[in-house]
Amino acid sequence: MATTVEQLRQVVALVRSWGYTVTLEPGWETRCGRASWTPCNAEYAVEHWTASPNTPTAYLRDGDPVRKLTVLCNVQFRRDGTGHLIAGGYANHAGYVDALTPTRAKRPPMDADITPGADSTTYSANRYAIGAEGNAGPGAGYTAAQHAFADAWWAACAIVFGWSRTAPPILGHKETTRRKPGDPSHSMAGRRRRVAALIATKTAPTGDSMSEKPVTLARALEILENVDGLIVGGDLAKRIESAIDAAATKSTAAILQALAGISVPGASAEALQEAAARAALDGATLRVDPPA
Ligand SMILES: [Zn+2]
Repeated sequence: MATTVEQLRQVVALVRSWGYTVTLEPGWETRCGRASWTPCNAEYAVEHWTASPNTPTAYLRDGDPVRKLTVLCNVQFRRDGTGHLIAGGYANHAGYVDALTPTRAKRPPMDADITPGADSTTYSANRYAIGAEGNAGPGAGYTAAQHAFADAWWAACAIVFGWSRTAPPILGHKETTRRKPGDPSHSMAGRRRRVAALIATKTAPTGDSMSEKPVTLARALEILENVDGLIVGGDLAKRIESAIDAAATKSTAAILQALAGISVPGASAEALQEAAARAALDGATLRVDPPA
């Protein structure tokens, strides 16, 4: 059976074949976060954010001198939409988590994030999960390009590691432990849905067209609620419908124009652009339902 390191080489090749850039930290194949070689069993994924958009690769590789932990993830999701593979072995990213995590990862909910229970004192996710750290933090959530890379990376992992293609086992750190609420800030059910949709486009027989998925008001709200600093108010439903209409045209300018009508106290232009970009990403596979 192929080792996780060999399989990660296949993941890199697949993601590159889809047009994404993956760079390799020298020595990644033999790097692990323990004194002696300890493999990572890649039964599922844990996605994190670094809590700061500017966390350098060297920190993720060499670790935290205060906590005396080295190798803080397997892969880094960078804000420019590229990925960097740091370690093929055990990485110190999640640690002791709720012992039900591996059970939940087998059939994760696709419509809601998981609410974790108390941490186990014996079950460490590090032995069983590929850990990714995205450069993001409060006020600076994942960029649209970073989300796209994360979708592609996890889709390739699901294909190569043989994970479920319809309910891929990709959990946020916040879904595995109560210690890390908001890590990461975005919806992980949304991640799982996008990854499943992407896998379908990459594995469907030639000429098989994907069935379209209707946009619901709840889904539109989720898109908007996952943008840091964006608080929608006022004549909500109608304006979101306008944004969805605009998303169907796949025109970022049109979406921005529609979103500009929404009252957004405290939202930055960057947050609005992120919302627009994400709506446009979804718009590529979504259909507009007439208002109920
Ligand atoms: Zn984390």
